[in-house]
Amino acid sequence: MSASTLWIGVGKTPPRPYTLADFYEQTTLLPGGHRRWLGRHSRQGVPLTGRTESVYRLSFRLTYDREPDGYVRGTCTLKHCVAGEHLADRIMRQSGNAGAEVATQ
Ligand SMILES: [Zn+2]
Repeated sequence: MSASTLWIGVGKTPPRPYTLADFYEQTTLLPGGHRRWLGRHSRQGVPLTGRTESVYRLSFRLTYDREPDGYVRGTCTLKHCVAGEHLADRIMRQSGNAGAEVATQ
């Protein structure tokens, strides 16, 4: 039995998670505390981490230290802003913390 057998089934190494430092490195701070993503964007202009996850969710998780509930949406006026402080998930929207509601539903 070779030692390498032990590694079969251990599986793929998970991708290295983004840290806040990585996040800051790939964003530009704008006046008003907004942040713009310097990495990839979808054709609709949605900032992407390079996988299927949007930068909104990444930023939210890094800022609030928990998984977002439901959709993460911006609460500020800058389109596609990725500043964690300017994002809200469903829980925050329902608790009324998230600024003006624009959507009709
Ligand atoms: Zn903003």
